[in-house]
Amino acid sequence: MKVSLHERTAPLKKPFTISRGTITEQPVLIVEMEHNGKRGFGETTANDYYGHTLESISASINKVLPTIEQLDVVRGDEVYNAVVAELANDMFALSALDIACQDLAGRLAGKTCFENWGLEWTGMPESSLTIGIDDTDAMVANLKENPGWNNYKVKLGTPRDIEIIEALRGATDAKLRIDANCAWTADEAIEKSKQLADLGVEFIEQPLPFDAPRADFKKVYEGSHLPVLADESCRVPEHVEPCGEVFHGINVKLCKCGGLTPAVLMLTKAREMGLKTMVGCMVETSIGISAASQLLPLLDFADLDGAILLGNDPATGVVVDHGKVNLADGPGTGARLKD
Ligand SMILES: [Mg+2]
Repeated sequence: MKVSLHERTAPLKKPFTISRGTITEQPVLIVEMEHNGKRGFGETTANDYYGHTLESISASINKVLPTIEQLDVVRGDEVYNAVVAELANDMFALSALDIACQDLAGRLAGKTCFENWGLEWTGMPESSLTIGIDDTDAMVANLKENPGWNNYKVKLGTPRDIEIIEALRGATDAKLRIDANCAWTADEAIEKSKQLADLGVEFIEQPLPFDAPRADFKKVYEGSHLPVLADESCRVPEHVEPCGEVFHGINVKLCKCGGLTPAVLMLTKAREMGLKTMVGCMVETSIGISAASQLLPLLDFADLDGAILLGNDPATGVVVDHGKVNLADGPGTGARLKD
């Protein structure tokens, strides 16, 4: 099997802000795997919060290339199983490799990834569109510039969180979900959950920092007026079980957990435990979004707007049309690099 890496910098349509900072462009690393005349694509992004640059991710991938190049891909989880131990400290690298392998296995079998996993595409949840942190008026303007979605995910973690949701609620009847990205304390989360519940919010993602005391998670779990989903607290398969005791659901991201292979395990386990399931994304290209979309048959909620936020997507794949995810033609994830 042959592996090649492609670096791209994808500009955003407009600056995107969450509680931790602002970005105007997204550096991405595309992995291309070729075997028996078929090509699979995987992707990961640079990320300051998780401490990964394209250089560090490329170095991790290059370290395991000799192992991967010897593989004869038949199953989608083969690369993951072969290198998961060696890449235990770089889920971003592992994720890009696993996505490419799952895509390639699908293309070799002539099936989509979800068909390869025995899943069916019926009654899929719609994606939300994310509204980043900005002046309250600018957030309302952003929502109004993007009408027709049934779900908006609003980034919070400001002194005017409730004012923002009151303003957005005045502008739409659509479902509103909150992502606090670790910005609140336990008491703040409980108080805000009451006000947000009164404003018709559906759920809250990651109110507390992942390293907050366990007692604080328990307090929010028991006191919150809205369901609370784990994101930064639920990164890899081992986190699902402990999260089940202090969250009502989990948000899985491919680059945090190490790709599609562990994501399927985490979502299946979460459903067995009675937890709500969601898949989120980074600001990323249609390669990453097409991969994450393969998980829709296992989801209650989806947040797959990453490629829509780009001004210039270097790839093609699934099309997210006002939240409805339309599959690309062809097997695997259906994604392709444009040039
Ligand atoms: Mg989140």
